[in-house]
Amino acid sequence: MISDEKYIQWTGGAGFYITYDGIRIGLDLYLSNSCMDPEGNFKRLTPPPTEPSNIVLDYLIASHAHGDHLDTGCLSEWFDKNKELKLIGPASSLLAATDMVPPDRKILLDRGGCVDLAPHVKIRGVYCDHGNQSLDAIGVVLELGNSTIYFTGDTCYRPDLRELTGAFDVDILIVPINPAFGNPGSEGAAKITRMYMPKTVIPCHYWLFMEHGGDPASFADECAKTAPETNCAILAIGEKIKF
Ligand SMILES: [Zn+2]
Repeated sequence: MISDEKYIQWTGGAGFYITYDGIRIGLDLYLSNSCMDPEGNFKRLTPPPTEPSNIVLDYLIASHAHGDHLDTGCLSEWFDKNKELKLIGPASSLLAATDMVPPDRKILLDRGGCVDLAPHVKIRGVYCDHGNQSLDAIGVVLELGNSTIYFTGDTCYRPDLRELTGAFDVDILIVPINPAFGNPGSEGAAKITRMYMPKTVIPCHYWLFMEHGGDPASFADECAKTAPETNCAILAIGEKIKF
């Protein structure tokens, strides 16, 4: 049954679950604890909103191959259970999933590339700057009917970001707010928000690992100063918003 329900749900960290016109899309989902090393570094601080086995997906987008964006602890299970599931991402993401995802279930999405999932459902890859940490990381623009969601991916703030991604109207912007690993922190994330002037901004990439840092309250303050026209939606883990 095709549902007319459309929403975006924060699953913690940089992960989102989006459903539109019966198409279920995971975006940088991380629901396991596979990033934690034997010393306890990169331990999950917040539980996922559901068991990984409950996730039903048609497409999984991984903006880059870091373990908190491409969940190697869940990939095999998800691809075994969801027979039609396809992985979408840049070459590094597809390569990192080689042992868990068969080649015919991978779709390459580079910066400047585009994948049509349905006549009115288009996924575009755009520029992002994750520096040397991931040279082919992408930002992701989801054109879902009349709504555009722009997920910047892991990127630093740079004044020419909008020139490099191309200019487009954004309804919902999703931006990392942690200051570590090249991400922009509250101030930089608020400047990115100002650049695109979305109706709504959802901050992400905090509360997953202690090492990431990030503070939604300081982002909300910066956003109120820098991009006051934008509604700043601080989501609880598992919370959904309709679009
Ligand atoms: Zn990240």
